[in-house]
Amino acid sequence: MSRYLFLVVVLWWITPAAFCEDQPQRFKPQITPEDVKPHIEFLAGEPLKGRSGEDALAASNYLRAHFRKLGLKPLFGDDYYQNIPGPKAPDGSPTMYGRNVGAWLPGSDESLQNEFIIVSAHYDHLGTRDGKIFRGADDNASGTSMLLEVSRQCVALKEKPKRSIVFLGFDLEEHLLWGSRWFVAHPPWPIEQVKLFMTADMIGRSLGNLNLKTVFVMGSEHGVGLSDMLTTVGEPNQLSVARLGIDLIGTRSDYGPFRDQKVPFLFFSSGEHPDYHTPNDVPERIDYDQVASVASLVLKITEHTANAPQVAAWTDDLPPRLEEVASLHRICKALLASEDEKPLTDIQRFLVKQAETTTRNILARGTVTPQERRALIHTSQILLLSVF
Ligand SMILES: [Zn+2]
Repeated sequence: MSRYLFLVVVLWWITPAAFCEDQPQRFKPQITPEDVKPHIEFLAGEPLKGRSGEDALAASNYLRAHFRKLGLKPLFGDDYYQNIPGPKAPDGSPTMYGRNVGAWLPGSDESLQNEFIIVSAHYDHLGTRDGKIFRGADDNASGTSMLLEVSRQCVALKEKPKRSIVFLGFDLEEHLLWGSRWFVAHPPWPIEQVKLFMTADMIGRSLGNLNLKTVFVMGSEHGVGLSDMLTTVGEPNQLSVARLGIDLIGTRSDYGPFRDQKVPFLFFSSGEHPDYHTPNDVPERIDYDQVASVASLVLKITEHTANAPQVAAWTDDLPPRLEEVASLHRICKALLASEDEKPLTDIQRFLVKQAETTTRNILARGTVTPQERRALIHTSQILLLSVF
């Protein structure tokens, strides 16, 4: 899927939780920018050469050392590594593609101990190409720093979580999600025992470099009660949590293999930006406050879910979405309001104003027909393709 289409569908599917008039319940992030920064600087540092193939080993060692130091149990028997075999070498000897790194904190409640909450991020990136290091600070040293700090906080919790919590760093996401596919095909326990899967991929920048201060949370529509749970948990100070449907963005990260097994999941991302998959994705451009806020949000959700009386069951029965219209309306208004910084051409202004009026009318009426919905998706694609 092209970057632009991703932008379009992401903007289209923002649900109104972030934009409705009611102010969400706010909380102070428990994880700080100072907590996450050293991880990102190390993982996206030049010596790690972009964390691909053999060069990803230093990153996996870093994760393993962190889990070990926290006293977390190894996830794969007595091993923190899950090796992912490659094809046999010409002489018949085994080769290795890479390794997932996993640890876990056993639940304190005997009857819930066999239910697992997974917190994850892929730690690999694109390596070095034509002498240029692709450092992958946002993609995905940012998500990995979340994983490391959430694990630290979970270990320190005064009240021990009832369900078991798994911390998982995936390798080979940049190779068709091979790490998470391997895990789902070879889990340490039946995959149905996973009650919530969470992954963060790119949480340190902003969609299209727009000033949105937003993290997109995708997938809640497939878990009964997940959306209400997000409301209960609230939002970190100075960050909006915008819910998106996963179906229109398709498979973009490691939630894919879990979604295919109907494991309830949440995917966290601040979206794509012009430095995506370029050598310019460097630590200097990371918004550390935002990474810390998203990490704090994942921590709260983890704590909440680990102790909740009930967890979300998978559903394919998707709710109606008049919210889409509200989202587009909000974006149109934002584009018109930011004309000083990002001027629109005459044709763009015409399209944006037209969409703004149409969406306002639909919202006033309170219903949207399938034809209107199709027309609006079409308009938003033309509009957003021409605006970004
Ligand atoms: Zn990624």
